[in-house]
Amino acid sequence: MEFPVPRRKTRSLFIGPVKIGGNAPISVQSMTTTDTRDVQATLKQIRALALAGCEIIRLTVNSREAAEALPQIKASSPVPLIADIHFDHTLAITSIEAGVDGLRLNPGNIGGQQKVREVVRAAKERKIPIRIGVNAGSLEKDLLEEYGRTPEAMVESALRHIHLLEKEGFDLIKVSLKASDVPRTVVAYRLLAEKVDYPFHIGVTEAGTLFSGTVRSAIGLGILLAEGIGDTLRVSLSADPVEEIRVAYTILRDLGLRKQGVEMIACPTCGRAEIDVIPLAERIERRLLSVKSYLKVAVMGCVVNGPGEAKEADVGVAGGKNVGLLFKKGEIVQRLKPDDLEEPLIEAIRTLTGEEIP
Ligand code: SF4
Repeated sequence: MEFPVPRRKTRSLFIGPVKIGGNAPISVQSMTTTDTRDVQATLKQIRALALAGCEIIRLTVNSREAAEALPQIKASSPVPLIADIHFDHTLAITSIEAGVDGLRLNPGNIGGQQKVREVVRAAKERKIPIRIGVNAGSLEKDLLEEYGRTPEAMVESALRHIHLLEKEGFDLIKVSLKASDVPRTVVAYRLLAEKVDYPFHIGVTEAGTLFSGTVRSAIGLGILLAEGIGDTLRVSLSADPVEEIRVAYTILRDLGLRKQGVEMIACPTCGRAEIDVIPLAERIERRLLSVKSYLKVAVMGCVVNGPGEAKEADVGVAGGKNVGLLFKKGEIVQRLKPDDLEEPLIEAIRTLTGEEIP
């Protein structure tokens, strides 16, 4: 059964070949943690992110040398790139000339309308969208005085940046409003959603370590996505960025917004369990990380709920009295030894997906 989430109506734009907004699938982004000047290290991370399913990658362009590394990085990148620029509009122009697919830049911070005009001219020529990224930690002084560090101040700041671009006749705009806590982030996006129809990049910034950041992002992004807000997203974690992609897809999959990769169903186990569910489910989940096709895999401890769940899944195992049952598309296809379930289950998934599984 499906319960589709209604999506906010937005304009659309393209980051390279990836459509954002206008009912396109919600895309998954991340950011490299390498020094952009180090072309090889940056490309290595880009490839790892792309392999994990990342669709758009942002890199910091914080110096002339970093901007000069972009053509080489862009030439070998399998996914579109966004240059993250602060303060220096010449870096934005060099990045556009280097072939990046998008900019993240706040036009109010680059030193006046003339500089905005120059960036907009270059961006228009190559149809490069600009993301305005408002962060609760770096709001304008007068807004802080008037509103405090509130969602209202964040929205007001975004509207100012938007206005600077619109004044130059530019509308390939995407907006993000990030705070490090969930309530402010959510309220800010809700408020801005009432005022503009530009697509939103959503995320909870500086969310934390793998564990706490995953929980915080799942709550923050989950609320927004369930309300139809969000066209592209990033899960920010103080961890290997590849983990961000895994978390992002899990959030999207759990809300039924992207159908990609393996949805694991595993029981929490209890005294009835006839098979060792926890290590088996963990091993299987890890082995299936690279699977691209969407499928549900169930690992259930006993016959109470086991066969029901395993039957709903595409493939599953359930423990029975001295036996392990393998299900495929709702049918018991094999009766196995309880300790001998992993390989037959993986083989069944290989056959179903046609994908290689380590
Ligand atoms: S499926 Fe069986 S083992 Fe797992 S939690 Fe339910 S009753 Fe316990």
